[in-house]
Amino acid sequence: MSLNNILSDYVLNLNESATLKMSQMARKLKAEGKDVISLSIGEPDFDTPSFVNEAAKKALDNGFTHYTPVPGLVDFRHAIVDKLKRDNDLEYDINNIVVSNGAKQSISNLCQALINPGDEVIIFTPYWVSYIEIVRLAGGMPVCISASVDNDYKVTSEEVKEAISPKTKFILFSSPCNPTGSVYTKAELKGIADVVDQHDDIFIVSDEIYEYIIFDGNHHSIAQNEHIFNQTIVVNGMSKGYAMTGWRLGYIAAPHFIAKACAKIQGQVTSGATAFGQKAAATALRAPLTAPIQMRDVFLKRRDMMLSELRKIDGLKLSLPQGAFYIFPDCSAFYGKSYNGKVINDSNDLAMSILQEVHIALVAGSAFGAPNCMRISYAANEDQLQEACRRLQKYFGELN
Ligand code: PMP
Ligand code: GLU
Repeated sequence: MSLNNILSDYVLNLNESATLKMSQMARKLKAEGKDVISLSIGEPDFDTPSFVNEAAKKALDNGFTHYTPVPGLVDFRHAIVDKLKRDNDLEYDINNIVVSNGAKQSISNLCQALINPGDEVIIFTPYWVSYIEIVRLAGGMPVCISASVDNDYKVTSEEVKEAISPKTKFILFSSPCNPTGSVYTKAELKGIADVVDQHDDIFIVSDEIYEYIIFDGNHHSIAQNEHIFNQTIVVNGMSKGYAMTGWRLGYIAAPHFIAKACAKIQGQVTSGATAFGQKAAATALRAPLTAPIQMRDVFLKRRDMMLSELRKIDGLKLSLPQGAFYIFPDCSAFYGKSYNGKVINDSNDLAMSILQEVHIALVAGSAFGAPNCMRISYAANEDQLQEACRRLQKYFGELN
């Protein structure tokens, strides 16, 4: 009997996270002594602000080392409610909030709580890698609406309307978007809200984890459209804005019955998130937004530097990312060409060839439902980014 027969269909049908896989490959090559620049994972390269670390140490000393209530410490949930009012003008109480081990778990809880087998989830594409697999794990059917570089990778409310079927359960998207950096405007969000308003039983899951990394104007939450407020679940977390990826803290703000359902699931799977981490995160949310804004400003400089270098590569089609820390060029003009005698047929070939030939780890667009593209994360220091651009210019110049 093959060992594979022992594993469940559930795991055998599961695709590995391409972002995590690529960053592991980069780590391995680095350990072998290769000069690899990793622009694969979506993780701020900054340290967590020191006042947050200090708050965690204090919380440890004050005994926050025990189980917390499953939906999160009351103190942290109050801080989240206040943050949602301060930054987003949204009114919640602490029973709307469920804190999880990262926004990834928040999205997983939601899918488990809302999806019956065969239910459809409309996913704006390009999408963040894990959406598809999390929806599938819950028995749902992803319905992808695709947008390309020509329309700034944004789908329209008309397309949403057309994709809705009697099986639609919810719509899932991120703005600012991973992987494209696109940001939906207030008017575009209202257009989508108006479509959903026609259907009492359809929800919106709005992933706003890149809220603070936005370069032009303010962040808008689709939940600010009052008529669909009760149909909207906001997902957010500490990972990106506060450089707290390893703390594993995400949360939802949802109608009470959905929050309760998510807490019920989490109570059987992982319980509440880490106690001292929640205390520190409450301190972070209550502080002025100085640290997130400082990081945002550095990301903006890097974005501009990267774009001006990448624009020198003939054939790459670039959008102007207005948030997050990704550039998502369309590379399809290069498919069919060769490097060192190896033909590049698709985004996977391209990402592999770039890793092997010029030692830059990127993520193939196919992982995000966009096989014409590749994702470049610029969450790395400026010297590395400049060197990466030099290598990419050389690489694409030598493709023939
Ligand atoms: N949503 C998006 C769009 C992301 O890019 C990420 C990054 N991993 C997450 C959710 C999950 O973040 P975390 O689990 O670290 O809170
Ligand atoms: N969200 C990040 C990314 O897209 C982190 C990796 C992950 O959780 O998949 O790279």
